[in-house]
Amino acid sequence: MNTIENADFQGKKVLIRVDFNVPLNDALEVVDDTRIRAALPTIRSVTEGRGVPILMSHLGRPKSGFESKLSLGHLVERLQNITGNTVHFATDCIGDKVKQICDCAAAGEIVLLENLRFHPEEKAGDPNFAEALSELGEIYINDAFGTAHRAHASTSIIAQFFSETKMFGCLMKKELDSLGKALDEPQRPVTAILGGAKIAGKIDIIRRLIDSVDNIIIGGGMSYTFIKAQGGEVGSSLVDPDRIEMAGEIIAAAMSRGVALHLPVDSLVSQQFSNESAVEIVNIQQIPEGWIGLDIGPQTIDHFTEVVRGSQTIIWNGPMGVFEMSNFKNGSRAMAHAIAHATTKGAFSLIGGGDTVAALNEFGLADQVSYVSTGGGALLEYMEGKTLPGVAAILN
Ligand code: AMP
Repeated sequence: MNTIENADFQGKKVLIRVDFNVPLNDALEVVDDTRIRAALPTIRSVTEGRGVPILMSHLGRPKSGFESKLSLGHLVERLQNITGNTVHFATDCIGDKVKQICDCAAAGEIVLLENLRFHPEEKAGDPNFAEALSELGEIYINDAFGTAHRAHASTSIIAQFFSETKMFGCLMKKELDSLGKALDEPQRPVTAILGGAKIAGKIDIIRRLIDSVDNIIIGGGMSYTFIKAQGGEVGSSLVDPDRIEMAGEIIAAAMSRGVALHLPVDSLVSQQFSNESAVEIVNIQQIPEGWIGLDIGPQTIDHFTEVVRGSQTIIWNGPMGVFEMSNFKNGSRAMAHAIAHATTKGAFSLIGGGDTVAALNEFGLADQVSYVSTGGGALLEYMEGKTLPGVAAILN
């Protein structure tokens, strides 16, 4: 793997693609700086090696051109506080003026470029735009796992201009090492836990996992499509009618290949999608008309917990219920605790996806699992077996 471990940064301008797509509040202050902190080891390697990190990122989804609320200028103060280094902000990301700022920065200082997506060429993967970016530095580092599944100018196309001087940053390496440990060379038994609302984004992953894991646990809103495929009655629970047939095929495929597919047996239901209305525990195959399944029930929690406790490798993506409401967070909390417990007994656990990580943080267990991935879409695509363009561009 091309990593920064032995790189010589002395006197070099080092272009680093980071993921600074951080949440801002109405006053345009950074609400959560986890992503800035995640890039710190790579930034430090460059500054301590007497080079100049030139940081480039996107922020949000600009419609066309500059939008003041999506300027990376809002991050300068926080970046300066976190790194303790002088940060020069360039009000664009390409061009002579930007080049001048980069060239004038002294070793140990940092340059932050303006939001890449103010140029539509970034998302289009335009080679001319990628080349203009590449002129700012002599070394290219990709440390943005969160966007590694995109073939954008700064995440993938740019790498061709650095055939001998392109590498993964520390975060990217940690992500790839952890994913490799969980998915490519795992200790068995391996258990994948999938939940959340959108079955569309995850059904291909489940299909792929049948070939590689020992247990698949399915909870959350997407489990009701599987129950429907078994002929169950799910009341008004979330169902994706276009994927019932596919869910049935997956159940059959898992059975024929000896993979244990664990579906909920009971459900916590309510008549409204609300924390205020009364709840009941029912058999998940017989949810009455008008009732909505919003969390896994106690028998399911016991069963899923047992499977997790017997696992050596655990991958979790997607909450077990509507954990944002206090009445429906028990299932996700129980899974988080079971995973943390299995980890203390020696299992390797990898958790990813915005909602799942938010749940884990809320339960105060983020430091009790082996690895918390910064990737949402990138993690899912890796799990699906797809080649990530941002990774391939460095390796090829
Ligand atoms: P996803 O983006 O597909 O990972 O879905 C995450 C969302 O799924 C969270 O906001 C949860 O509230 C939601 N979710 C989990 N379980 C259910 C359920 N039984 N019904 C509806 N939404 C759910």
